Amino acid sequence: MQNLAELAHLQKSAVDVWKECLKIIKDNVPFITYNTWFLPIKPFDIENTILKVYVPNSFFIEWIEEHYNTLINKTIHQVLGSDGKLIYLILEEKEETAEPHKFDTTSKNQVIETENRQPDFENYLNVRYTFENFIKGEGNQLARAAAFAIGENPGQTSFNPLFIYGGVGLGKTHLIHAIGNKVLEKDKSKKVIYISADAFTVEFVESIQNDTVNEFSSFYKTMDCLIIDDIQFLIGKEKTQDLFFQIFNTLHQSGKQVVLSSDKAPKDLKGLNERLISRFSWGLSADIQPPDFETRIAILKNKSETFGIYLSNETLEYIAQNITSNIRELEGCLIKLLANSSLNSKEIDFELVKKTVKEISTNKQVNISVELITKIVCDFFGVEENKLREKNRRKEVVMARQIAMYLAKTLTKSSLKTIGLQFGGRDHSTVIHAQTTVEELIKKDMQAREVIETLKNKIEMTVN
Ligand code: ADP
Ligand code: MG
Repeated sequence: MQNLAELAHLQKSAVDVWKECLKIIKDNVPFITYNTWFLPIKPFDIENTILKVYVPNSFFIEWIEEHYNTLINKTIHQVLGSDGKLIYLILEEKEETAEPHKFDTTSKNQVIETENRQPDFENYLNVRYTFENFIKGEGNQLARAAAFAIGENPGQTSFNPLFIYGGVGLGKTHLIHAIGNKVLEKDKSKKVIYISADAFTVEFVESIQNDTVNEFSSFYKTMDCLIIDDIQFLIGKEKTQDLFFQIFNTLHQSGKQVVLSSDKAPKDLKGLNERLISRFSWGLSADIQPPDFETRIAILKNKSETFGIYLSNETLEYIAQNITSNIRELEGCLIKLLANSSLNSKEIDFELVKKTVKEISTNKQVNISVELITKIVCDFFGVEENKLREKNRRKEVVMARQIAMYLAKTLTKSSLKTIGLQFGGRDHSTVIHAQTTVEELIKKDMQAREVIETLKNKIEMTVN
């Protein structure tokens, strides 16, 4: 037996129902929260007790579900009865110049249902990462163009494999997901899978334990497009590399697309089997460089609009000037701004921006410890960690020690004295000496500069 609320809603349109919901919500949350998170939601359709609404992006869903799930459920039950349900649809804007919050379904916008695209296996593709919301810049031009070409014609270009490399947070994962999404958008029947090299290794090891290695390898060999992220994690995993080599050959020979990402160029993947490295260079290797100032502004503009917030030019420039290393941090800054303003019911003013930017830089430093730096540097140079604390004067130990000290000084807030103490009770002048030595080296020697960059990336990637 339906109750009154359930019967009543039968007459109402999605717009009316959502209006009622908004009325309740408005009384229960601060004004800025209401503006930020609920006003941008637009009703789409109602079917029995299921209300479908558009949200600007999947971040909205995550945020709302985490913070306002109880309120939403209560509201929906109140308006639609106990069977009431809310389904979110994500609205991805196709046009880069599109204004935020245009929810007109007759325009060029594309609606993506969160639950659509159900292949008969989990493809791990994140529908949030598309070409439409990937901002072009000088640093990613080649990688993006090649990725786009492959998305349109997988296996049919000379970019096979496509190998995308670059530092952390620069958009590698985004771009390779975008390829997969594009391939499926053009042809739903294509078999596409995204997997990180780490997860691939774990699955492989499980298949050995379960005696299903053959099934494991045949499964990947049936793909039309195989996308493997962070291939550097295969270093030191000989058996996984062997199996991947076989899968790679089968796919490549039958004109199937392989897409790989890595933190380094193929030739710099020391410890990866030579035959794999040589195959990586069969196709195209494209790097992604950190975004320049203009690209950072463009990214901030675009993301703030999809998050539904307005930032002045002064604010955008301040963030772009102060957060320079990667895009993940730019995005992190916006999310923090949103969170801070909506949780504290505060408008986003310049003070809040300054505070948030500062928090981001300090947080990063808090998470990086001298121990972590030592570990990563020692792994890299193949030196035992305790050697750095001893009075060992072997050339490679001295170098590893100096680099670790230099990184400790640049990446943490530790004082010279504390750093010295953590390296076997050395004096602060030793740390200063290490710092100037490495700085000189970086100026003169390009290879050294690259080593330091790689180490920094590794460290930041671990704490991110
Ligand atoms: P990586 O894999 O290189 O570490 P990600 O692909 O995870 O970096 O990117 C980090 C974040 O920055 C993601 O949320 C991604 O969507 C965003 N991002 C990176 N590059 C761009 C870009 N050019 N345009 C828009 N967003 C980007
Ligand atoms: Mg990544």
